[in-house]
Amino acid sequence: MKEVITRFAPSPTGYIHIGNVRSAIYPYLIAKQDNGKFILRIEDTDRERYVEGATDLIEDTLKWLGLDWDEGPIVGGEHGPYFQSERLPIYHEWVKKLISSGRAYADPTPPEKIDEYRKKCNTEKIPFLYRDFRPENLDFTFREGTPIRFLSDPKEREWTDAVMGKMKAGPEVQDDIILIKKDGYPTYNFAHIIDDALMGVTHVMRGVEYLSSTPNYLALYEAFGLDTPTLVSLPHILAPTGNKKLGKRDGAKSATEYRDDGVLPEAMLNYLACLGWNDGTEQEIYTKEELIERFSLDRIQSSGARYDETKLLWMNGQWIRKIFDEQGARALYDRTTNFWPKVASDYSEEYRLSVLSIVYDRLKVLSDLTEMTEYFFKDPEIDTDMIKNNKFLKKLSETDLESLLKISISKLSDIEDWNPDTLQETLNWLLAETGRKPAELFSLIRIAISFAPFSPALNLTLGALGKEVSLARLNAAARSL
Ligand code: GLU
Repeated sequence: MKEVITRFAPSPTGYIHIGNVRSAIYPYLIAKQDNGKFILRIEDTDRERYVEGATDLIEDTLKWLGLDWDEGPIVGGEHGPYFQSERLPIYHEWVKKLISSGRAYADPTPPEKIDEYRKKCNTEKIPFLYRDFRPENLDFTFREGTPIRFLSDPKEREWTDAVMGKMKAGPEVQDDIILIKKDGYPTYNFAHIIDDALMGVTHVMRGVEYLSSTPNYLALYEAFGLDTPTLVSLPHILAPTGNKKLGKRDGAKSATEYRDDGVLPEAMLNYLACLGWNDGTEQEIYTKEELIERFSLDRIQSSGARYDETKLLWMNGQWIRKIFDEQGARALYDRTTNFWPKVASDYSEEYRLSVLSIVYDRLKVLSDLTEMTEYFFKDPEIDTDMIKNNKFLKKLSETDLESLLKISISKLSDIEDWNPDTLQETLNWLLAETGRKPAELFSLIRIAISFAPFSPALNLTLGALGKEVSLARLNAAARSL
């Protein structure tokens, strides 16, 4: 059996879309499953769409997700260069082979003429095929500055796509496609065939949008006498609503934007891998190692999978808890550096760790820390309306509220060993003594010490804030009423 070699072959045309990222994950998984190779190749032959810095974004995204490539930019490899723009001599050499076997020709027909042909077909309502208009006397010469076209051999073609199953296409979809453009750069259609062959790629995994061009690719493999690799068409990722492909406008951010919001790479990998694939069980949370072990081509769904950010964020919450529970508070803390409120830097690491330990199970993204924990580092602004309008406290008069705070302050002041257990005992005592419902008493104390919409369990929050700070805030709130 041949070693599995796969590749991710993005075009550096800007922002790296989350759907594109999945096209990197699947080839990575099947290569690793087989101890094979995963190649990164940058398809930068469309000079008009080239965006400076886009390659860095692609590399950052793969590195962040732990999709290390065995060959490609930075790491090199025996099949380089890995930027198509640096491989022009290779494409020229290969196109010359086709020219000499009479299967490619230089075509000087100007674009305006081609447009005319196209318009003519549109008016006559017949499909436009360039081969119907190809020049009568073909020029089998490699000419710089002249596009080189394939001399097609249209016929019935059958093939199997690992996801889409048995496929069939007739001659009407096969044409004299351009191989080398006027500027000397190859088209995607041509370059990827050569590169995949030279790089030994066994599985070509890419978006389903290339399925309709596959008959042309098969014709090229045939003309070169190359084996056709296993073709794997990955269905579209659909927008959250409607029946269309997920696009930039549908609110899906780029992978690195999610990273900057505090989505963990484990969660992103997990979510995208399971978007359109499952292993037939109910399992939802997978580590990279588990994905490598379980992934299989035959369980990729052939229909589009709907992008669901809520699910991604849910999964991220699961991963935050998983890391905390399995690897410890410190492991999660190490991921939080960029997400604390500014004021947190005045506090010790130990204190930040204790705060993280009580809030982590409420986090969806790490950037939630910024707002969620501010009151641990800075006295909150007093907002008496927040107390008075609270749904549990509305019924209480100002005098009730004040006396409830006063008795709480007095009893809490008596605690000598300030810790979650002694705090819980005191809180229970206060409940019994005042006859208030927990929702009333605890909401009041919680708001008075945080003026935040949520906080972790009250005894933990008071415990983390410490006696002095807690009492000072309770006193300030009481005075404000
Ligand atoms: N450069 C193509 C793209 O970014 C890749 C298609 C492929 O993987 O062959 O869509």
